[in-house]
Amino acid sequence: MSAPRHAADANPPSSARRISARIGGIAESATLAVDAKAKALKAAGRPVIGFGAGEPDFPTPGYIVEAAVEACRVPANHRYTPAGGLPDLKKAIAEKTLRDSGYAIEPSQVLVTNGGKQAIYEAFATLLDPGDEVIVPAPYWTTYPESIRLAGGVPVEVLADETQDYKVTVAQLEQARTDRTKVLLFNSPSNPTGAVYDRDEVEALGRWALEHGLWVLTDEIYEHLVYDGQQAPSMPVVVPELADTCVVVNGVAKTYAMTGWRVGWVVGPKDVVKAATNLQSHATSNVSNVAQRAAVAAVSGDLSAVHVMGTAFDRRRRTIVSMLNEIDGVVCPEPRGAFYAYPSVKGVLGRTIDGVTPTTSTELAELMLDKAEVAAVPGEAFGSPGYLRFSYALGDDDLVEGITRLQKLLG
Ligand code: PLP
Repeated sequence: MSAPRHAADANPPSSARRISARIGGIAESATLAVDAKAKALKAAGRPVIGFGAGEPDFPTPGYIVEAAVEACRVPANHRYTPAGGLPDLKKAIAEKTLRDSGYAIEPSQVLVTNGGKQAIYEAFATLLDPGDEVIVPAPYWTTYPESIRLAGGVPVEVLADETQDYKVTVAQLEQARTDRTKVLLFNSPSNPTGAVYDRDEVEALGRWALEHGLWVLTDEIYEHLVYDGQQAPSMPVVVPELADTCVVVNGVAKTYAMTGWRVGWVVGPKDVVKAATNLQSHATSNVSNVAQRAAVAAVSGDLSAVHVMGTAFDRRRRTIVSMLNEIDGVVCPEPRGAFYAYPSVKGVLGRTIDGVTPTTSTELAELMLDKAEVAAVPGEAFGSPGYLRFSYALGDDDLVEGITRLQKLLG
């Protein structure tokens, strides 16, 4: 038999071939999907209360908006600028990193990205060769495994449940380590659990990574949202010897209520930042200059806005945790950071509610949306079925109304 002239002749188009395997395998972001469904129902006139969105319900502070308005009027901002970020912003990020984390870096160690999401993807794309493994503590933020796979890597999940405050131990990591392990992913405060690792725990994990020559990608996007007087220490500050094999991801989204502006960054060793900048120069070029100018104002200003938001989040955190724990079968540990509560709902599964018997957290989330018009994200999205994520970045009255509906439905 003669060889087919085109691969397509041998393998006729099918849906699998129309989309590459690499992209076809990516799951939709479950958190964005829940949020979109809740918003669509709301737009159709249904009184849905959404606990799905991972964004502050506050507007961006006025002085930041003013900086953007001003930037619109400056023709230099209408042009292409360096792909890796405005020099002013890189400098301001370096100063902010020293001020907030105690981590001394140079502007050349900063790459400004379209949000933390792009920072994470570019960091993995820069570090991973096909087959390299990344240890991902679960419950994890839904984007991490997809981002790792997209970069050719293999996510290796390590589950820490509520009995260990959702925090992994060195012994667990050691069990997951293989010859292919290249990176440890670390996220504290955590999305979805709100867990915050204390200094000793950060040090233990960082020393373990150092001892085994592993890279660490640490996502510090919720650094300022911590409660009960806690701190979220930065891993390369606690273990300074890690600096050459550590990438920090951060951004303005959560601290300054700027999710829609799309400014994040990577901090890392210069060679990594340079390589990642090359990638970005072909993928997206510079982040919008207007948004970058707004980010300069944000990171060089004070932290009063996040303190105001933090006070409201703290109040809502206490309310939601105590109200969730009043529901039979729901166990909600107290989150120490971010703006999420992550209760186990295993005690509710298998119970018949309003004629329906949910056996998974996904089915329970659907039931809640149908019968109580309350949207939360099922634990399946975070690598831990049997849980639900509730964002408490919504108004106090809505929060109480939403959880009261659940108490009635599930109670
Ligand atoms: N990292 C974590 C843990 C997050 O929860 C998010 C957003 O939800 C991000 C990074 C990315 O934020 P953005 O891309 O909006 O800057």
